[in-house]
Amino acid sequence: MEKHILSKSTFLRGLQCAKSLYLYKNFIQLRDAPSAEQQSIFNRGSNVGVFAQQLFPGGTDATPARRSDNPAAVERTHELISSGAEVIYEAAFQFEQVLAILDILVKKEGSWYAYEVKSSTKISQTYLLDASLQYWVITNSGLPLEDISLITINNQYVRKGDVDPHGLFTFRSVKKEALSNQAMISEKIAQSKLVAADPKMPEMRIGEHCFSPYNCDFMSTCWKNVPPNSVFEITGISKADQFALYDAGFKTIPEIPEENLLGKNANIHINAVKTGEPLIDKEALKLFLGKISYPVYFMDFETFMPAIPVYNGTKPYQHLPFQFSLHYKTHEREEAKHIEFLAEQGFDPRKTFIESLLKHTEGQGTILVFDALMERNVLNGLKKDFPEFSEAIDNRLSRIVDLMQPFQEKSFYHPAMKNSFSIKNLLPAIVPELSYASLKISSGSIAMIAFEKLQRETDMFKILEVREQLLEYCKMDTLAMVKVFEVLEASKGE
Ligand code: SF4
Repeated sequence: MEKHILSKSTFLRGLQCAKSLYLYKNFIQLRDAPSAEQQSIFNRGSNVGVFAQQLFPGGTDATPARRSDNPAAVERTHELISSGAEVIYEAAFQFEQVLAILDILVKKEGSWYAYEVKSSTKISQTYLLDASLQYWVITNSGLPLEDISLITINNQYVRKGDVDPHGLFTFRSVKKEALSNQAMISEKIAQSKLVAADPKMPEMRIGEHCFSPYNCDFMSTCWKNVPPNSVFEITGISKADQFALYDAGFKTIPEIPEENLLGKNANIHINAVKTGEPLIDKEALKLFLGKISYPVYFMDFETFMPAIPVYNGTKPYQHLPFQFSLHYKTHEREEAKHIEFLAEQGFDPRKTFIESLLKHTEGQGTILVFDALMERNVLNGLKKDFPEFSEAIDNRLSRIVDLMQPFQEKSFYHPAMKNSFSIKNLLPAIVPELSYASLKISSGSIAMIAFEKLQRETDMFKILEVREQLLEYCKMDTLAMVKVFEVLEASKGE
């Protein structure tokens, strides 16, 4: 069998950008490494795919001994079909050098049904194209399909006892869409094959397609000539507006004329970059700080969101809090004190989490949170899960003030923030003595992955090491808030 030229993923890559397909085929070494977050999404997809096999138990896996041996997988699938197998996992097909590996193939009453599993809760256009390509390869390779369906996660499912795969997943036939896409798929396959075989790289300027439907993994190659302080750092305007500026020759922020139609927020950032001076609206800052009363708590949660619910009473992708850090000051000139909580791995953390949090935030005073949406959602979720704490949780919710507000509203704006309101971007701008750089865990998503992995970890030394790293990270988040708050207080003037 000839080696395949296109697979599902390279076909979709070519639809996003011909140059991306060309680079992948010819210069894969230029590809940017996936981030820890992207790798975790990929791993999550694989776990969900394996779990979904329980929907059709007793099947045979066509994956060959050497995973990359695709011809062996195609041959094995063919043998399984010929020998009367009725449920095949990872069924592989090839037609005209296009390879498709289907999650689950099932024979019912003499007809074949194809199922592709997605770890998402929604069906996207990309998934429909993916299924359309599968349909094209499978049917053209000689296996008629009665139907093809996407299996996604049902986000309303609540675990009770063992996870019920029939409750966790939801099915939708996409045969109609697949059929209507067949002519387009044929045409795009032909075009993509030409791109892959062409010795010349396709001309392709950077554009909005670099981000849609996915962030391209050749950005460090194609975007390397984009200068610092480029117009792509202006947030609050659309990508289309950024490219319009760039294509009109205004490549950097200092080149943007005084008179423009970019709006107030974008111009605050533009002017701050041009002057290099922070912008401080003292009156607005005073108003914000006037809402805060001592003792002040600086609070941050870490959560994990398993696609397949781990605990009874939880839903897919529910934010499950496993850690908090609290700094607190009883008055302005006091050094902040610190309290922390990190749940034991392997147990439902929610009850001990909320009990500990309520105990340490009893009484009065403002609870400052940076970007409070997640913390509010978690507390509201805990209210439903543990109605006995409802009143106390309402009290904490009523005391929350979002420390991001003055930055978001540009009452305080520093050019080095690059229009980002994340605390990690604020720190180098306004508290340069603090940094996440030396931390092994340096973002909420890495913390989430680390805690998820701890659930399966058995090496005590590794467990202690990761727990230490988690504690350090979360503590840094609230210490950073303390320092940022002190900068705001010092900036408001008399
Ligand atoms: S970075 Fe943009 S232009 Fe370059 S290959 Fe990717 S999508 Fe194409």
